[in-house]
Amino acid sequence: MALLQIAEPGRAAAPHQHRLAAGIDLGTTNSLVATVQSAAARVLVDAVGETLLPSVVRYLASGEVQAGRDAQIHQADDPANTIVSVKRFMGRRLADLPNADTLPYRFIDHPGMVSLETAAGERSPVEVSAEILRTLRVRAEASLGGELAGVVITVPAYFDDAQRQATKDAARLSGLTVLRLMNEPTAAAVAYGLDRAAEGTFAVYDLGGGTFDISVLRLSKGVFEVLATGGDSALGGDDFDQAIAQWLCEAHGVASLASLAPHEQRSLLMAARAAKEALSQSETVGVAMTLADGTVWQRTLSRAAFAALCQPLIDRTIAATRRALRDAKLRTTDIAGVVLVGGSTRMPLAREAVREFFGRDPLADIDPDQVVALGAAKQADVLVGNGNGEGWLLLDVCPLSLGLETMGGLVEKIIARNSTLPVARAQEFTTFKDGQTAMSIHVVQGEREAVSGCRSLARFELRGIPPAVAGAARIRVTFQIDADGLLAVTAREQTTGIQAQVEVKPSYGLTDAQVADMLKEAIETSLDDMQLRTLREAQVDARRLLDATGAALASDAALLSAEELATVRQATFRVADALETGAPLEPLKMAAADLSRATEEFAARRMNASIRNALAGRELDSLA
Ligand code: ADP
Ligand code: MG
Repeated sequence: MALLQIAEPGRAAAPHQHRLAAGIDLGTTNSLVATVQSAAARVLVDAVGETLLPSVVRYLASGEVQAGRDAQIHQADDPANTIVSVKRFMGRRLADLPNADTLPYRFIDHPGMVSLETAAGERSPVEVSAEILRTLRVRAEASLGGELAGVVITVPAYFDDAQRQATKDAARLSGLTVLRLMNEPTAAAVAYGLDRAAEGTFAVYDLGGGTFDISVLRLSKGVFEVLATGGDSALGGDDFDQAIAQWLCEAHGVASLASLAPHEQRSLLMAARAAKEALSQSETVGVAMTLADGTVWQRTLSRAAFAALCQPLIDRTIAATRRALRDAKLRTTDIAGVVLVGGSTRMPLAREAVREFFGRDPLADIDPDQVVALGAAKQADVLVGNGNGEGWLLLDVCPLSLGLETMGGLVEKIIARNSTLPVARAQEFTTFKDGQTAMSIHVVQGEREAVSGCRSLARFELRGIPPAVAGAARIRVTFQIDADGLLAVTAREQTTGIQAQVEVKPSYGLTDAQVADMLKEAIETSLDDMQLRTLREAQVDARRLLDATGAALASDAALLSAEELATVRQATFRVADALETGAPLEPLKMAAADLSRATEEFAARRMNASIRNALAGRELDSLA
């Protein structure tokens, strides 16, 4: 009979508590925060009812920091201290920024990440992003009336580990607890509830302010796998603003936008952006701009004229989309749904192009500005434990197998590709040589059987293994990957408990395309790989046999006649030779088999001799 539980007097069992959680879209141009309330996700507004927080931070000499709209209005008059699009600098070095010299900032190059010299001193992109996140945290806590237990922050699917780590650091700096980073396209798919579908392949078309991202996701058994990502990191709404500004210049006999003064360029671009956004609702719009000398430029722009100006930009997004599908080996008919993300997908021009390319209406009912934050909010709500008992949890998968280098340059896979995260696996290894007291552990990623065909992730050493004969020590190696894809490898000697460990980032610097290439190569060469593995294993065995014979000869050669000794020596040479010259499998195996036969009798005699010695020892002992 089950025992009934009784609460202590005065301490009633706490009712299920709703914990505050939020999803944050930390965008290049705009950022948002959303939360789930009464089972529905909604975006939180600031004191004046705005949802979008422009991702702009301004540093003043007084030490004051402005974020959002307060900072954005100074973009034209204080460009050097007003940081826009800081997301582009996250986890990047100066050499990674192709157009750094065209930007108004004073960059300082550092080995890990650039930083910027501002009126308030040097600031890293992590600190700048932390200001944006802090503003959103304050907004959320004010509107929810309590401290956030945790947040999910979205990042582009192609973000590498340095960029992801920088994002997490920014969150920590802003006082937020990160439950999980989530890929932006996955968040958008979740907002539409696509994760509730059984299976399917979806495309997410994200045209933001400065970037275009296309992602192809496959959902199966509750796991979203990123099949392909593509896009153009220098194509976004800003380019449409540029096109309008350039058009207005030409209409007034000015050859290029660049010939205007910097602040004139900025105000013209702002006017162009306002016009572009208005054109998504109306058929025509007026664009006006006052130059420094008081001259006023004014023109009317029609949708048709705008389309003519910008069709080439839209065409580039479609070309990138086509490439991404090709990478994933899919046709448009394989796509079960297309999700529109990003403010620029409000442009009828963009929607039309997507509809035409995919031959279906894209999903666009959810505000494209908000969709990523809403999906992140749903995930955060589940992760923080508010799930309504369904245990729904979105999982990521590990894109490539992870393993260890073993003797002969072979890979022993510990975690298989496509394992869902988080995951932990352990396996026991042993020493190769007698008296071995240290072990070098080499962590690799990839599908190939040989270490040389995989990517090296980390190396570390386990020292202090008690000396014993080869094969006696038990070293347990554990691979553990957390939900963000961070891998920790621990090696522990079982009798003494000594251990060593290393943390690595398995996806570091690997693009999805590289992952796909590595997989393709592994599949194409799997037969070669199997043969290679057999050969390497034979080589390891042969070397072990050579070592053992060498050691036996060194101590007990006296047990052999001169003739027998010569036979063993010869067989030894043949094996050593086969190893040195890299002989193929068959000759190597034959040489090793000969050696093993030649030493059979020798081994038996050594065994007898050692038993005799042991008995002799026993007799001596008992005599004493
Ligand atoms: P990001 O993901 O880069 O932060 P957003 O998704 O917030 O960017 O998109 C910002 C871009 O969307 C800007 O270029 C902005 O001009 C554009 N945008 C916003 N609303 C509209 C609209 N109604 N019509 C056209 N473009 C728009
Ligand atoms: Mg975005």
